[in-house]
Amino acid sequence: MDLKNKIQEKFTSLYGTAGEFFSSAGRINLIGEHTDYNGGYVFPGAIDKGITAMIAVNGTDKVRAYSIDYDESVEFGLNEEDAPKQSWARYIFGVCRETIKREGKVSGFDAVFAGDVPLGAGLSSSAALESTFAFAINTLFKNELDKFTLAKIGQSTEHNYVGVMCGIMDQFASVFGKKGSLIRLNTKTMEYKYFPFNPEGYKLVLVDSCVKHELASSAYNERRLSCERAAAAIKKNHPEVDFLSDAKRLWLDEVREEISSEDFLRAEYVIGEVQRVLDVSDALERGDYETVGEMMYQTHFGLSKLYEVSCEELDFLNKLARKCDVTGSRVMGGGFGGCTINLVKDELYDAFIAEAKTKFAERFGHEPKVYDVVISDGARVLVD
Ligand code: ADP
Ligand code: MG
Repeated sequence: MDLKNKIQEKFTSLYGTAGEFFSSAGRINLIGEHTDYNGGYVFPGAIDKGITAMIAVNGTDKVRAYSIDYDESVEFGLNEEDAPKQSWARYIFGVCRETIKREGKVSGFDAVFAGDVPLGAGLSSSAALESTFAFAINTLFKNELDKFTLAKIGQSTEHNYVGVMCGIMDQFASVFGKKGSLIRLNTKTMEYKYFPFNPEGYKLVLVDSCVKHELASSAYNERRLSCERAAAAIKKNHPEVDFLSDAKRLWLDEVREEISSEDFLRAEYVIGEVQRVLDVSDALERGDYETVGEMMYQTHFGLSKLYEVSCEELDFLNKLARKCDVTGSRVMGGGFGGCTINLVKDELYDAFIAEAKTKFAERFGHEPKVYDVVISDGARVLVD
């Protein structure tokens, strides 16, 4: 039975009626890593893995929701003190509350949903869940909040109801995602632009190391501080520099003696990454995926050797990709574990995946997981 039938059947058995289908997606980020807190670009796209929900207004002041994947039901009211205990339900509750805070109408509704974004793998299953419900509520209650507000509702849900202080990229990509397009988002101005991404003859595949090293959160704060110090030093000579992404490479050289060699390397990575995003933008306009791939390798090098947020497992996968003639490969996300994102020619795909599984298992004792992704639509109503 296909997923929509399964959802509909469950919905009818629980609530006796039927509703409308809504869906949204997880996301990848092609390039632009650790740039979001430096006022730089990110370059995400929605993927063909997401959340699908059937939802109907129920005429009460209670929300009833059932998660197929957790096989659990919840019922909650819409006041601040009604927060449910189940973690998955807190996302839905948070979206309701954040909508209300923005003057959106929300009353009781019924929902059944399921998803296929792997949890915690760096593909943002939580953003898929938030944006499905943010979009659905906006549609069902005719709130007419704009798409940016819907993304913000998801982000604020993470901040205020889950305790994850994330940036806007995941929810932005999930709400704005479009089939065959990546979205370049300027995290300083929030300007964005769609770029064509139709790599015919290539596959996009994530190889999940399934490791997460403890270092991640302290290292993240240290990197942020390094970037702030480097930007402050440059600003003394160039007052227009508010963020590291505003700085030219030469301006960094001017302060080489004033900042630590470590801060210098961190800044060198960030300034290089801003340029790589621009190079990738041009390459995508031309349909030049070989250049895109080369930039991905350069990003990996920078993240590994300058920014120092890679780890043995990810460097191993990256090297292996090079050896298998994979067009582009880099660590995706914050680092210290998680996935590499790989752009690989169709004819080399099987050999690469086989090699990655065998060699990685020989070295680290477990196989990596593999997720093929296709750039797809984000939040939407599903018709038939
Ligand atoms: P990710 O990196 O995938 O976003 P998070 O820890 O931020 O990982 O979010 C995962 C959480 O999102 C899960 O623990 C669950 O509460 C919720 N979630 C994601 N997908 C589903 C799903 N298919 N069904 C129910 N809840 C889900
Ligand atoms: Mg998440």
